Amino acid sequence: MTAKPKLSMYWAASCGGCEIALVNINEKILDVDAAFDFMFCPCLLDTKYKDIEALPDGDILITLFNGAIRTTENEHMAKLLRKKSKLLIAFGSCASEGCIPGLANLSTKKDVFKTCYLDNPSIDNPSGITPQTETNVPEGKITIPAFYDSVKTLAQTVDVDYFIPGCPPEPHQIWAVVETVLNILKSGAPLPPKGTVLGGGKSSVCEECERKKEDKKITGFRRTYEFIPNREQCLLEQGVVCMGIATRDGCGALCPKVNMPCTGCYGPPEGVLDQGAKMVAALGSIIDIGDLKGMKEDDIDKKIDEIISTIPDFAGTFYKYSLPGSIMKGRVS
Ligand code: SF4
Repeated sequence: MTAKPKLSMYWAASCGGCEIALVNINEKILDVDAAFDFMFCPCLLDTKYKDIEALPDGDILITLFNGAIRTTENEHMAKLLRKKSKLLIAFGSCASEGCIPGLANLSTKKDVFKTCYLDNPSIDNPSGITPQTETNVPEGKITIPAFYDSVKTLAQTVDVDYFIPGCPPEPHQIWAVVETVLNILKSGAPLPPKGTVLGGGKSSVCEECERKKEDKKITGFRRTYEFIPNREQCLLEQGVVCMGIATRDGCGALCPKVNMPCTGCYGPPEGVLDQGAKMVAALGSIIDIGDLKGMKEDDIDKKIDEIISTIPDFAGTFYKYSLPGSIMKGRVS
């Protein structure tokens, strides 16, 4: 019997939702098991790092790598799995764009530690101890990974073959990718070009959103707790910041379907370099300050500022999933 190709899944700086998404392909997980030797997944299996280190280079056919690169351990595993895998896939938003962990790029490492270990109301830390990479104890020396100054995407760390977007990726899209790879394996057909985004569309969420779209003119922004949006009309036209215009399709416009705005987890659409910049540009063209006749430039600026100030958190709104992968990458100090 020929050995099945090896499949691995690794989590770096992430929440574990990507593993849940994989399990959510439901009974199709049996097809994955039939086709692959699923041999490494710290969330599910007890394979040790030394077992991976002992494999010949390129021995794993596919590694689904989720999570951003925040620590020396994340980087070590990215480099190790790159070496041991034929195909390294950035799985989900954290690996692809940096996602929520990447918002910490707006703060220094010192501030992150201060918030997590010193100022946090749920922590009792009177001695003000913060994590140290080496600690001597009677039994010997304990070492933990070092925490980097900023979060990087997987592709900013190692060479990546493909990307699967989403926070987390939608199960039907995960299955579509697995099925495509299986069919390619069976038929010997060529793989998609390197760098291709798999499991997503090439357009924007607006394209697959069924809401009625008319002329967009926004005179002010509102948040969803302030009113119940009309279920038929485009949310953006109702003043809710919906990132659909600046987000890759492929999820099925799930959030607008349940009357919530798209927050952008599928990353920028094909060909768009910076998701936040794309959204800001789109908003710039639809903000309506009324009749400009007789208005001085200062008054126009003031009116625009008034409207913009109703958006509470620019970075968290426009770069919630994509800050490390954006042109700015983080705070410009
Ligand atoms: Fe749908 Fe949002 Fe696009 Fe409007 S902006 S069409 S609600 S995805």
